[in-house]
Amino acid sequence: MIDVDVRGLRAGYTDVDVLTGVDLHVPSGSLAAILGESGSGKTTLLRALAGFVRPSDGTVRFGSREIVGPGVFVPPEKRHIGIVPQEGALFPHLDVRGNIAFGLPRGEHRRVDEVLDLVGLSGMGDARPQELSGGQQQRVALARALAPHPQVVLLDEPFTALDAGLRTRLRSDVREVLREVGTTAILVTHDQEEALSMADLVSVMRDGRLVQTGSPHEIYDAPVDLAVARFIGDVVQLPVLDEIGEDRVRCALGDVEVKDTISVPASKPASATLSIPADSAPRDLLILRPEQLHLKECPAGAEPALTGVGTIVGTRYHGHDAMVTVRLGDGTDIDVRVTGIVPPADGEQVCVEVHGAGRRFRTERSTS
Ligand code: ADP
Repeated sequence: MIDVDVRGLRAGYTDVDVLTGVDLHVPSGSLAAILGESGSGKTTLLRALAGFVRPSDGTVRFGSREIVGPGVFVPPEKRHIGIVPQEGALFPHLDVRGNIAFGLPRGEHRRVDEVLDLVGLSGMGDARPQELSGGQQQRVALARALAPHPQVVLLDEPFTALDAGLRTRLRSDVREVLREVGTTAILVTHDQEEALSMADLVSVMRDGRLVQTGSPHEIYDAPVDLAVARFIGDVVQLPVLDEIGEDRVRCALGDVEVKDTISVPASKPASATLSIPADSAPRDLLILRPEQLHLKECPAGAEPALTGVGTIVGTRYHGHDAMVTVRLGDGTDIDVRVTGIVPPADGEQVCVEVHGAGRRFRTERSTS
């Protein structure tokens, strides 16, 4: 087992660098997810790791082996990598066995059976790719990637083409297989749920850089900036009305504990996303997650202007839960995640209670 270490990697196409200095360390045997919007540079990073794109600067090490560095460029076929592409990309004229054996030395039948077994396709060796479902094709692609005992497996949005139910199942199966073989793996995806549910380590990519790397929980719970907070999940953002103390603030939901304060440059004020004039915009914004909010019945005759009192103005029903929009007395709309069989009805008056602490994004004072 080997770790992957990337330092200051720059790479791109023709004269333009898409990756503008990528640093990443993937511990041996773990799965890292590179999560980013379309066009952020995920595929370019994967291609650079695979050797299909020649970096202009930086280093890549697989264990103690330098793959990319000053005067060093190990070609793809010598990197000991396995690649699982977006859609199986299997050879249609070869059966499953032939597809898996393609990159193996002749006569490695045992290994083909081993990996077929590993991905849950024992006995399917004689099938043609076109006879397989999308999920089975991706299992074959994984088996093919693992067959030569790669040191590193690269997965390029491998579940995108599958429907939702199958995707969830395959994600957890693939995760299990990778754990079993213990290969270090890097997955690129634009799907937050995929990254959070599969990876040991999530790295958020934006404009060719990794802006935050951490465990799924760290990324969700302690995003480094507002854009990461929003990209990684739903957010409730409320202007801070008053400071109660070092770690408590007052907002439209009452007094709330603050666990962290993150400074935001004055050029990108925290309140820029609120539809209020800049001159009356608050310096601080409190960020909570919708599942930190709980709806309670309001005491009879509760004042609409009271903190934490609101009216339900909409519901997005998802089956396992619902996102309920509550309009607070000051006109702010907030989202509350509600579990339960029957979501509450529009027009109902509710009290909103905050559980746990929020994160404060503080706009630095302009020095000019
Ligand atoms: P992602 O995988 O996050 O969607 P990509 O790495 O594919 O992002 O693309 C990052 C940027 O590089 C985009 O602006 C894209 O247009 C550009 N790009 C991707 N592939 C090529 C290519 N073969 N030639 C030139 N530009 C490319």
